[in-house]
Amino acid sequence: MILLALGVMIFARAGVAQEARPAAGAPDARIVVVRAQWLIDGTADKPRHNMEVVIRGERIAEVRPANSQALPAAAHVIDLGAATLLPGLIDAHTHIFLQGEDPAAGGYDVQLLKYPASYRAARAVVSARRALEQGFTSIRDVETEGAGYGDVGIKRAINEGIIPGPRMWVSTLSISSTGGYPLEGYAPEITVPKGSQLIDGPVEARKAAREQLDKGADWIKVYMTHRSWVDAQGALISQPTLTVEELRAIVDETHGWGKKVACHAYNGPGLQRALDGGCDSIEHGLEITDAQIAQMLKQGTWYVPTLQVYYTDWDPADTDAGKRDRKRVAVHGVSFGKALHAGVKIAFGTDVGGFKWSEPIAQEFSREVEFGMTPMQAIQSATSRAAELLGKRGELGVVAPGAYADLIAVPGDPLADVSVLKTVQFVMKDGVVFKSLTSELSSMSERAP
Ligand SMILES: [Zn+2]
Repeated sequence: MILLALGVMIFARAGVAQEARPAAGAPDARIVVVRAQWLIDGTADKPRHNMEVVIRGERIAEVRPANSQALPAAAHVIDLGAATLLPGLIDAHTHIFLQGEDPAAGGYDVQLLKYPASYRAARAVVSARRALEQGFTSIRDVETEGAGYGDVGIKRAINEGIIPGPRMWVSTLSISSTGGYPLEGYAPEITVPKGSQLIDGPVEARKAAREQLDKGADWIKVYMTHRSWVDAQGALISQPTLTVEELRAIVDETHGWGKKVACHAYNGPGLQRALDGGCDSIEHGLEITDAQIAQMLKQGTWYVPTLQVYYTDWDPADTDAGKRDRKRVAVHGVSFGKALHAGVKIAFGTDVGGFKWSEPIAQEFSREVEFGMTPMQAIQSATSRAAELLGKRGELGVVAPGAYADLIAVPGDPLADVSVLKTVQFVMKDGVVFKSLTSELSSMSERAP
């Protein structure tokens, strides 16, 4: 692929407007054709040259060589010129209710102690919009960090077209055990809010899962490790939280509802319990042994590594926290490389919210490549692979007939430099243009549907 700038693009924001969604059930004969010099479809090994995507309503009808067939008179053509067209991206590990709070500004705790729920919801609306602006048309949001069931309402508002945002899979409160989640460090006489629903025993564990599923959780998020530190021998140690019996109760209940369990697990006994208890996805997985990789392969467990977030906000090197911060990244890249090589299913996730939503979510792609993925594998981890994790194979993360018309475009060649995915210039979700930095697209999105 030749690295070319998008000739027709101008940096105007006029195209950022949402067209009205057709009424539910109404026939939608609107035909849009999107053309670009290059297409990366999310599953094929190689890009295709000069293709066009024919969209009817919210779905892709056809993918074919550009100008190969006459178009109906009513068709609207969007020509993206030298751009590379891709499926809408998927971030499988986000927190729209976190804002990468500066520790000096109160960090995590201030959000639970001082911010009204409405203030946090307002900021979450902006986070959701930021995801879509950056080309992430789907996210799995893995808990609200003390903001209750706020994610259920944000998801509904997006689905009803009230606010712009990605498709969301939400996990509401999350589950950990007593002593297994902040807020911490306050006087023992004071009851402070917790960022997770804390349980003890299989009965409470199952009840928490039932409550969260009843109130709208699409996934259940469980914390299987909590604090971590470096011991005298230089090893990374992580405090385990739930027992295998507690986790099994959650997994059994959740699978009964046809839903899945995402487990935060760094390493050690907590990670082992996560695997023995039947977690569907391991989040972070900083240090995974060869035996654990073999167990993940056998059980079909997903790995959502979130590499980049551990490179931010390190404490000084001579402090305990600073040693831990450096040890985490030292083992993480190695685990990622081993899991990749062994064929573990890997989906793209970033923990955005742990860092600010104003930073590029796509910076994770460069870390995936640094630790062994080809650029195409990295792209597929955020498209077809992540769609498979979400149970949406063939419908999301792919540019193919029958899939939702979630498309993005970037200037240049992401296979030569994955960092161009940080500069998404065109975003379509459900066949509706959300963002376009081209003059031709501005006129399209201003057009009445
Ligand atoms: Zn997270």
